[in-house]
Parts: sequence; C-alpha cells; structure tokens
Amino acid sequence: MSDAAGPVVLDGFPASEGIARGRVLCVKWRVPEVPHLTVPEGERKREIERFRRARRRARRELEGIKRDTEDRLGPIEARIFDPQILMLDDPEVVEGTRRYISRSRLTAARAFEWRMLELKERWSRTSHPMVLDRLNDLEDLKVRILSRLLGLAAPWSLEGGAEEVVAVARNLTPSFVARLEPSRVVGLAADGGTRASHWAILARSLEIPAAAGLGNVSTRARDGQEIIVDGVSGRVVIDPDAKEADRFERRRAAIREWRHEEAASPRGGPVALDRQGVTLRANLDLPGEAARAYRLGAEGVGLFRTEFLVVGRGTMPGEEEQYRAYRTVAEAFPSQPVLIRTFDLGGDKFPVFLRTPAENNPFLGRRGVRVCTDEPELFLTQLRAILRAAAHGDVRIMVPLVNTASEIGVVRKLLDGAAEQLRGRGVEFKLPVRVGAMIETPAAALAAAHLATRAEFLSIGTNDLVQYTLAVDRTSTGLAHLFDPFHPAVLRQVSMVAQAGRAAGVEVSACGEMATRPLGALLLLGLGVQALSVGWRSLPEIRRLVRNCRLDRVRAAAAAALEESTGAQVKRTLAASLGGAEERLFPAGT
Ligand code: PEP
Ligand code: MG
Repeated sequence: MSDAAGPVVLDGFPASEGIARGRVLCVKWRVPEVPHLTVPEGERKREIERFRRARRRARRELEGIKRDTEDRLGPIEARIFDPQILMLDDPEVVEGTRRYISRSRLTAARAFEWRMLELKERWSRTSHPMVLDRLNDLEDLKVRILSRLLGLAAPWSLEGGAEEVVAVARNLTPSFVARLEPSRVVGLAADGGTRASHWAILARSLEIPAAAGLGNVSTRARDGQEIIVDGVSGRVVIDPDAKEADRFERRRAAIREWRHEEAASPRGGPVALDRQGVTLRANLDLPGEAARAYRLGAEGVGLFRTEFLVVGRGTMPGEEEQYRAYRTVAEAFPSQPVLIRTFDLGGDKFPVFLRTPAENNPFLGRRGVRVCTDEPELFLTQLRAILRAAAHGDVRIMVPLVNTASEIGVVRKLLDGAAEQLRGRGVEFKLPVRVGAMIETPAAALAAAHLATRAEFLSIGTNDLVQYTLAVDRTSTGLAHLFDPFHPAVLRQVSMVAQAGRAAGVEVSACGEMATRPLGALLLLGLGVQALSVGWRSLPEIRRLVRNCRLDRVRAAAAAALEESTGAQVKRTLAASLGGAEERLFPAGT
C-alpha cells in the first residue's frame, strides 16, 4: 500500500474548511456480537421491560449530549440530536422489536438487532443522502442500545494515539463529533457523508477541518500513519512525502500569518496589485458564524444557508426564532449586504415535517424555490422573519434554484403578502428589500439576461451549476472525478451570466465552493464576476490571493481559458497565464 508506493491521495467532498496534519487514529466501532438466544415463554415481559429501560438510558445519554452541545455550540447544533431521540419512540423501531420478543421469544438484544437490520435494509434501498444520514443515526442508536442490553462499554473509542490526531472512520456520527476536543482531534476523514451530513455541521461549528465521501479512507489508513486533511478541497494525503509535508507546512504558516495580518489590517475589500477592488463576502451556515466572519474581514454575507435552521426538526421553526437568527446575522454586518437565501429544501436536505413522498431523482424534484412556492405557509413565515430582520441591516433575499423570471415574480407577490400580514400586526419591518436569483441551472444561466430584468442581483451557485450542467450528482463519491468546475461548459455559462449582469446593471456574485478555491476564485473574477462569497474560514486566503494578483492579467488568463476544450486544459492555461502565482501562494495546490 502506501509505504512502498509513496503518499496515498484520496479526493472526497469538502465538509469543514481548514487544513490539518496529524496521526491517523482509526475510530473503532465496537458493533456488539449478539448471540441468537430465545427466552422462555414466561420471560417475554421481562425482555420487553429490559428493552424499555435500555431505550430510557439511551434517551438520557442523548439528551445529555444534546445539552452539552447546546452549552458548547448553541441550540441549532443541539437540535441535530432530535431525530435520534425521536427514533427511540418511533413505532417502526419499538413495535417491530416488541413483536420479535413476544412472537419469536427472542432476547431483547436479538429482537432489536433484527428489527434494526430490517429497517436498514429498507432504508438503504435509496441513495438519498438525507435518508443515508438517518441510517447513520440509526447505526449509532443500534450500537448504543445493544451495548446497553449486553452490558458492554462505550460503543466507540478514540483511545491511544498521539497528541494531534485525525479521526478516520467509515462513518461518523453527530454524537461522536459533538464530544471531540479540537485541540486533540485536529481533523476528520470519513468514507461516507457529504457537506450536509449532521456530523459535518458539527465539525464546522467546532472548526475541525474535515473531508467526507472519501470512499475507502478507513481501509487505506492505519493507526499512527501521518495524514493531511484539506477541508477546502476535500482531499486527504496519507503518508505524505517530505515535499508534500513541506508544502503543507508552508501553507499552514502562511495562513496563520495572513490571519494575523488581516485581523490587523483596515476593513474593506481586498485591492489587487493593479488597484482594482474586489468585494469579498462570507458564506454562513449558522448565525453564530456571523461575528467570526466579520472579524476575518468579510464585507457582508453572500450566502446565509437558512436550511440549517430546520435540520433535525420535527416541526417548522417559528417566525420569532427565524427572526432572531436573521437579525443576529444582519446586526453583525452594519451597513453591509446580508444575502439571506430562502429555504433550499429538497435535494439532499429534506426536513421530516414536510413529509414529502420519495422521489426517484430528488435533485430534479421538489427543491429550492419550488418547495417555497408550493408551501406558502412555510415560505410566508420565513419571509415575515426576513422582512422584520431587514429593519436591522442591509438584508437582501436570495432565491435558490430559479429557472424563470416568473418565479421571482411569485416571490415578490408573496413578499407583499408577508408585508401585509406584518402591517396588520403593527410589527416593525422593512420593504422594499432587494430580491435576487441564484444561477444554479443551465436554464437560469442561459436566461440570465431575462432574469436580470426581474432580479436585483444574481449569484452563481457553482455547486449546483456544475451538477446540473454536467449531469453529475454532487453527492456521489464515485462520480467525484467527473465533477469539474473548470469544464468549458461551466466557464461559458459563468461568462454569459457576468455579461448579462453587466449589461443590465445588476451585481453578479458567485457563492459556490469554486469561489473558495484559489484557482476557481481567480477564474470567476477573470470571467467578470464582481463579488465572491467564500466559506468564512477561507476569507484570509482569498483576500491574500486577490491582493497578490493583477486583475487585468487574471482577465486575460480567463479569456484564454475560455478558448479551451477540456477542464484539464483550462486549468493548465490558467496556471501558465498566471505564471503559477496561485501555486506560489497556495503550495498545497488546492
Ligand atoms: C451552490 O449550489 O453552489 C450553492 C452555493 O448552494 P448549495 O451548495 O447550498 O446548494
Ligand atoms: Mg445550490
């Protein structure tokens, strides 16, 4: 494997930004062996009672973790544990197990294990990431309850290992990640999961760099091996050679230095060497990140992903709660734009309370603005909360997965309705607010000139634009090598959208992962995108990148890249035209 062959490089999904280097510590899941035992007729009741008690203990444990998470990270992060807690009373779980105990006289452990196997079998028939996440929660619950019933110790361990370790696992769970100490566990790498996985949300909140969807990192890595995790690109390197390790250390040192320098430098967008300014905003998932992004110099928020307010919820978050969250973000950026994206539900993020029937292609189904306009109650509540928060800052509304200008029209009508409701209640709010469209589909990109007549700004969501342009599922580990933001078809659409925005006089920004990666950020700027919104932890890197480039050269490089016919050629042309500037700045080559 790696020793003789040199470093092992695996590419997955960026799950939590930042870079880390440490020693591998494989997470050992002790999935208990359950003997096939039956109980005498008269002991069935006792087994049912043991099962009830094991569930009660598991509930207490999970509620304890939830409380600790709330103290440590906040209420939104804590709610991630609700689905698991709810699952403890799920009739599918409870009744199914009881049936095996009473009808087949199985021990509680065996009956529960069988029931869990059945449910897993049923749920694994989907590739829906949301369901797969639920499956992950189910596994956590299964091991927790079986350990209790069989009188075993904690289901997983991170014992031993060096000071700074990277936890490597087949799958990670929220209860595991919530209790990590970032000074010891400096990085995470998992075979499964995506950026939207519950554990990844917690990793971001704890600021532990993580890569997900790596396919087989858990079988490639061994305890004690050296490993680098790049949570920006989603890459891990096991057993890095001296050159790789040196590149990493230089990059880490540079980032540290930039953070200090950026903290000390005056606020405002970075200015390139040829004195042209660039607007740099932050992508946020949780309200608590707003103050941190401000300290790193963000000039506002280019994407606030509001879906994370509904993660793990059994019910819709109310207007008041949403208003508080949006207001927190608005107030963190006095007089700077805060683009609140309305719920982008569907695809890989579906809350249980919507009870949506299973879809064969969730990413092509009810998603984004379609859900909002189909569920006016849900949407009006969100719009009211946003309008109220708008009274406290420069709040703008960004609509996801738009295909046509008429969808923006529907949103505006609903906004009027929401304002009417607030007026009736005599509550403070602000209207008009600017309404913009995300450009995430080829349809939207091709119709950008038309959309720009109805929308007051456009923001390119490159994650989805790449997925829908190339017909490559953004959550598929097996297809990750085909997910290419540098594909000429993507470039042409970005260029077309930038031109359409310029012609109509509306701002065009970009907020997908592509903007967070150096070469991608330069390419977007070169193609005419005016503002970048990047994962907030990457702000110092991208600021530094802009300050060290000449935008006229970047534009010439992008123009040359537009002529190329493959993604690989595009990257080569860019790198050559920029004289390797981004490679000198970012030696780890993200
Ligand atoms: C995108 O699609 O690029 C985007 C920013 O939105 P999300 O990743 O939340 O779908
Ligand atoms: Mg998107």
